[in-house]
Amino acid sequence: MSRYLGSACKLCRREREKLFLKGERCSSRNCTLDRKRGKNGPGQHGTVKGKMSDYAKHLREKQKARRVYGLTEEQFSHYYEVAEKMKGSTGDNLLKILELRLDNVVARLGLASSKKMARQLVNHGNILVNDKKVDVPRYQVKVGDVITVPEKYKVNTVIKKLVDRITLSVPTWLSFDKNKIAGTVVGEPLAGEVSHPLNSQLIVEYYSK
Ligand code: SF4
Repeated sequence: MSRYLGSACKLCRREREKLFLKGERCSSRNCTLDRKRGKNGPGQHGTVKGKMSDYAKHLREKQKARRVYGLTEEQFSHYYEVAEKMKGSTGDNLLKILELRLDNVVARLGLASSKKMARQLVNHGNILVNDKKVDVPRYQVKVGDVITVPEKYKVNTVIKKLVDRITLSVPTWLSFDKNKIAGTVVGEPLAGEVSHPLNSQLIVEYYSK
């Protein structure tokens, strides 16, 4: 299945919560979900209410996670298979793998205002890992990796603006040096430190059926 190219806000409406897919707009008054109409799901059945079945709960959590990280169904189920083969809790492993994707780390460092923008930066060769260009968004970063932008990009006004706004919001497993415009992976993300609150147990139950 190909990548979703429709409206990002529609995905938030479907999940009935803010997934923060559009960067700055998500925190402003322009967020669709903050408007009355946006609180309904999309489409003609958007206003249907009622108790969700267990299956629906599992499915929605999986879809939410997939949308937060901008992944196709195939990519997401591949990550699940990898997480299952790792030692420890499959749910925690899954969230860890998703968080350690290079595009996600670029977004979490604040070098991009959304995961979509982060993916574009990586795809266009504007991200270096340990001083080497890495243009693969799915690249898994490791503890000790240093993520920077090329010298010519450091003077880019968009990057300068973003870097100026980087505050203490960088998660504890990352550190950021504003002067060098360099982020370092200082640890592995714990379940409670991921981009968006997700119940990994519901995702595990979805795949365990
Ligand atoms: Fe979701 Fe609101 Fe951002 Fe649209 S603006 S992507 S509804 S959080």
